[in-house]
Amino acid sequence: LPPQMETEPEPEAEPEPHPEPGPAAPASPPCQAAEGENEDEEEEEDFQFLGCDGCGQDSAQPRLLRCLHTLCPGCLSDTKQCPRCQAATGAPAVDNLLFCNLRSRLQLWRQIRSSGGPGCSRCRAEAALVWCSDCEEFFCGRCLEEHQWWHKKKAHRVRRVEELRAGSARQFLEDTRGSCSLFCSSASHPEESRVCSIYCPRCERALCCPCALLDTRHAPFRDLRAESRRRQEELRSLRRDLRRLRRSFEAALGRLRGEAARREEQRERLRERVRASAERLQELVRSEAEELRALLEARPERGRSALAEELRGAEGALLRLEAAERLVERLGRYGGEQELMDMQPFVKAALLELRRLRPPEPPELREPPDFAECRARLRAL
Ligand SMILES: [Zn+2]
Ligand SMILES: [Zn+2]
Ligand SMILES: [Zn+2]
Ligand SMILES: [Zn+2]
Ligand SMILES: [Zn+2]
Ligand SMILES: [Zn+2]
Repeated sequence: LPPQMETEPEPEAEPEPHPEPGPAAPASPPCQAAEGENEDEEEEEDFQFLGCDGCGQDSAQPRLLRCLHTLCPGCLSDTKQCPRCQAATGAPAVDNLLFCNLRSRLQLWRQIRSSGGPGCSRCRAEAALVWCSDCEEFFCGRCLEEHQWWHKKKAHRVRRVEELRAGSARQFLEDTRGSCSLFCSSASHPEESRVCSIYCPRCERALCCPCALLDTRHAPFRDLRAESRRRQEELRSLRRDLRRLRRSFEAALGRLRGEAARREEQRERLRERVRASAERLQELVRSEAEELRALLEARPERGRSALAEELRGAEGALLRLEAAERLVERLGRYGGEQELMDMQPFVKAALLELRRLRPPEPPELREPPDFAECRARLRAL
């Protein structure tokens, strides 16, 4: 290690990778099942989470939004709001490199699991026997020999396709997570791509060893793996805080939902009371109307028939007066002595009787008492 390296606790040395494909599968790392660590297990199995959070489609260029949801470029350009959480999408998004790489590794896995198995990436003729995670290539037996000869000093991590097939997608993706090397992006060696192993905290970037040593401005620096672990730990500790926060959010949300439900219940009860009151009121109004109608129809019967009687009487009297007038006129015009002798006393008596008739008094203008009562009750109603 360079002398300026900050001291970082070194993890236990990793076991030597198997350069030769062997039947013994490497022991899986001890599973430290932290609380809730495996809650996404179900989702992890089919990797649906790699799809766009908007349209659900698989995208080659997933973009990670500030709200930490992922959208495909199409959905991102279409919307001003995250379709999942409604956060504004105004803040700049980054490429979701994780999903992008996972997606291509998942495609490799599907090749491994395909019915014919993957073909050799080199000769493209034979079926593949092994997978080199450093080259990210499949090899048939013959091409593997060549590969081993080329990379004999670097000890590439080669595994049998058969063995990978027997494992799970999750295991494959976990095992291949470190397979992509990070190359130094320094402009000082544009021809040569060198793998990074150093991290400069001042520049906040990874460097190859020569770049770090040649430029003193980078000192002091850290081991890249230590920096990766530090970053992971930083995220994990943030995740712990957020988990606590999420629990209090869940509790608060529970209370809010309870309150909303309580109010809805109250509203429902009030609605029921309004309905019942309206029903009672309608019933009341209906029965009152019935009573008033009865009042108008039944009780004034006497007064009404008296008026009708008076009407009929007056009409009859008028007809009789007309008849008397006509008879007297005809008797005068056509009657002789005999008729006068025979009929005059009778007619005279009848006329005298008629003369006693008096026209009816003008009707009372005051309305009958039951009308007034009806009106008052209508007003009260
Ligand atoms: Zn989309
Ligand atoms: Zn969102
Ligand atoms: Zn081959
Ligand atoms: Zn290789
Ligand atoms: Zn470099
Ligand atoms: Zn630097």
